[in-house]
Amino acid sequence: ESLTVAALAKKLHREPTEVVKKLFMVGVMATVNQELDKDTIELICEDYGVEVEEEILVDSTDLETYFDEEVEAGKMIERPAVVTIMGHVDHGKTTLLDSIRKTKVTAGEAGGITQHIGAYQIDNDGKKITFLDTPGHAAFTTMRARGAKVTDITILVVAADDGVMPQTVEAINHAKAAEVPIIIAVNKMDKQAANPDRVMQELTEHGLVSEAWGGDTIFVPVSALNGDGIDNLLEMIGLVSEVEELKADPTRRAMGTVIEAELDKGRGSVATLLVQDGTLRVGDPIVVGNTFGRVRAMVNDIGRRVKEAGPSTPVEITGLNDVPLAGDRFVVFEDEKTARSIGESRAQQALQAQRGEKTRVSLDNLFEQMKQGEMKDLNVIVKGDVQGSVEAVAASLLKIEVEGVNVKIIHTAVGAITESDITLAAASNAIVIGFNVRPDANAKRAADAEQVDVRLHRIIYKVIEEIESAMTGLLDPEF
Ligand code: GDP
Repeated sequence: ESLTVAALAKKLHREPTEVVKKLFMVGVMATVNQELDKDTIELICEDYGVEVEEEILVDSTDLETYFDEEVEAGKMIERPAVVTIMGHVDHGKTTLLDSIRKTKVTAGEAGGITQHIGAYQIDNDGKKITFLDTPGHAAFTTMRARGAKVTDITILVVAADDGVMPQTVEAINHAKAAEVPIIIAVNKMDKQAANPDRVMQELTEHGLVSEAWGGDTIFVPVSALNGDGIDNLLEMIGLVSEVEELKADPTRRAMGTVIEAELDKGRGSVATLLVQDGTLRVGDPIVVGNTFGRVRAMVNDIGRRVKEAGPSTPVEITGLNDVPLAGDRFVVFEDEKTARSIGESRAQQALQAQRGEKTRVSLDNLFEQMKQGEMKDLNVIVKGDVQGSVEAVAASLLKIEVEGVNVKIIHTAVGAITESDITLAAASNAIVIGFNVRPDANAKRAADAEQVDVRLHRIIYKVIEEIESAMTGLLDPEF
């Protein structure tokens, strides 16, 4: 929760120097780029007769921090387990997901159209289980990398005729890293070549020892193709869920994670959300990652419109102002105004962070970037006063020989450096050389904003000397 003096000044529509003076008056010595804490910001705002809105103070903290109501143990009820299926390619993940879904669609839902929304829920003897239906650990880890923990149980599919393969091991490591319990589905048991003992043997080497052999890992022989053993597998999921004591409070505002999202031509932003706590309702003001809106419509995994969705339920929603990312968190807010203000400021901060992340090439950091192997070409734009000088500069630059990096002239022209030169440079990570020309006012502003390195010269050999020293790491830092 902080702002620099300059940023605060901008929000207050004042000159930064004025704010610095104001700060001085209240006993805070600060420079323009200094970060101010919340109290100081409030003090200054008060002085200007401005009320500090939450908007100003929102930072990019996890959305969860807006979901900090205290847990009331009495309201917690059991929630369905969320299960991910992982395993080596062709071992039967997709077939298993399909066959579970087919066998367990409840009678009343039979007429519904199966809809791919990224997850589905089944009813197993009155107990629900949610399956994420993007198999594989890539999706799992992408979500985890974004801070989302959605999976309660992993089903590791291992083909009995093939045994432990590289992606089996990867999947084990991903599940272990996430500390998610693993159930082994020994698949393709219908095959002649099925050898479940070998699977058990091989998994022992990865710390997964079957109960039959004195360990605590559940192994279930199945045939995803003909449905054998699926009931047993679901029963085991139920058992593990009980041990895990999965609970949630359906009376709270909802929170959870984006399973997938896309832009739909007709409906706009469409996102599948997994409700992890609370109950999500149509009309709820919501912040989803860096997007916000109101839940306009909700559709469940069989394509039915629903009005609410409780814990562990996947639903597809519309009504967001933009498309969030898989793994983004969502939180429902009391009122739309707060949701909007938090959503907007998150989007803005994300944009700024994104800009900050990209290190633009400059002659000062060129050598560093070369050393890190990030630079193969030094892209250059040359502007000059006459055609002859532009050509001469470009030709001399191309003659520079430094190991590991090439000069690449991406644009040359006669005339002052313009905003469009800067835009091109920014998009191509290039530097701009002005020979006997200067940037115009717009270009100057753009170069500052986009952090494009613009070098002005009057003598050719100075241009070459500067670029050469930058490439060899001998450039004196410029202040
Ligand atoms: P994934 O890559 O792990 O999703 O594997 P798939 O579900 O696409 O299955 C790969 C192949 O194995 C397909 O041709 C399936 O029909 C077949 N398969 C899957 N499960 C079984 C099974 O239990 N028995 C037999 N015989 N074949 C299976």
